[in-house]
Amino acid sequence: MARSKKNNYPTLLGLPHSENTIKAWCPFCEDYHVHGKMEGYYSAHCHLETSPFKKTGYYIKFETVKKRNSA
Ligand SMILES: [Zn+2]
Repeated sequence: MARSKKNNYPTLLGLPHSENTIKAWCPFCEDYHVHGKMEGYYSAHCHLETSPFKKTGYYIKFETVKKRNSA
């Protein structure tokens, strides 16, 4: 079965880690995966062989802080 689904990757939230890296919580490994500080698609850094991310990879999106300063 060859399904072609584009832009259908799981999205992980990228949290600040260091100046050049971000970390994303992986619910399957129950651990953070550290990636370069860039939004986009990554192949999974999972150390859990059964993690579904191993097949799909994931998209990392930065956490966006919304400020509500205006009434
Ligand atoms: Zn993982």
